[in-house]
Amino acid sequence: MSSEKIPLAGVIGCPIGHSRSPQVHGYWLKELGLPGHYIPMEVRPEDLEEALRTLPKLGFAGINVTLPHKEAVLELASHVTDRASLIGAANTLIFREDGSFHADNTDGYGFIENLRQNAPGWEAAAGPAAVLGAGGAARAVVVALLDAGVPEVQIANRTKLRAERLQQDFGNRVKVVEWVHAGRMVTEAATVVNTTSLGMLGKPDLKVNLDGLRPEQVVTDIVYNPLTTPLLRAAGEAGCTVVDGLGMLLHQAVPGFERWFGAKPEVTPGLRAAALA
Ligand code: NAP
Repeated sequence: MSSEKIPLAGVIGCPIGHSRSPQVHGYWLKELGLPGHYIPMEVRPEDLEEALRTLPKLGFAGINVTLPHKEAVLELASHVTDRASLIGAANTLIFREDGSFHADNTDGYGFIENLRQNAPGWEAAAGPAAVLGAGGAARAVVVALLDAGVPEVQIANRTKLRAERLQQDFGNRVKVVEWVHAGRMVTEAATVVNTTSLGMLGKPDLKVNLDGLRPEQVVTDIVYNPLTTPLLRAAGEAGCTVVDGLGMLLHQAVPGFERWFGAKPEVTPGLRAAALA
């Protein structure tokens, strides 16, 4: 029997049954012919610290982190990347030999890579971005848009205070727009992003006036269930370049996989199909 260690990684959350990460990493391991296992693990908040102490000892190279642990892991990490610190949450942990770990956030990277892959003509500098929503995912999207060079990010959120907090945290390239004026904000932007949960299966529709959508605009929704949300349908009908949210989920997994299993995987139509199966 070979004494070589088989790399282990996984995802922790509570609940965890809905996570598509095991399908994503499992697909890549098989495609690339690499040894390794990726395991979903339900970890309750009160067990988080103990789980993070134990997993490196069991041979895990790292893990993905999902709700409700994305913020709590920052307190326990020995090193937090700048982007995770700015976003205020981590989704990817790299374990070190001594049991300490490094916390990163790849959601914004996934968001931008999805745009680059599926809207190849997208240029950050083309004009302002309109962001609908100011929740946890919006923080990653706003950091990524600013980092990519978007001249201004306009944010409209039902709860204005949350949008104002983003403006305080990310500076004067961020502008807050009243939720009632979200339709006008969308009309004037070069890039439009929905980061609210509106339009998701089982949630209400996004009731923003979309009459002003124009073919020059790139419109993306980070909701991926359904793949074609009402926003994306309206944008498609208006002739906009449309990017669905599944690619963000797939691209955010790339840096962790590369680190844990030693090869950079690709986001392909085959992977999309596997993630949807
Ligand atoms: P969150 O922190 O709970 O934020 C939810 C956002 O939706 C807030 O801006 C909230 O506004 C808004 N919202 C909810 N119900 C609303 C309503 N009835 N009217 C107006 N606004 C409403 O959630 P999150 O973690 O940011 O996730 C948001 C969505 O993104 C989810 O559907 C999630 O599945 C998806 N997501 C996708 C990816 C991906 O990889 N594609 C990654 C992360 C998240 P208030 O502040 O006013 O409550």
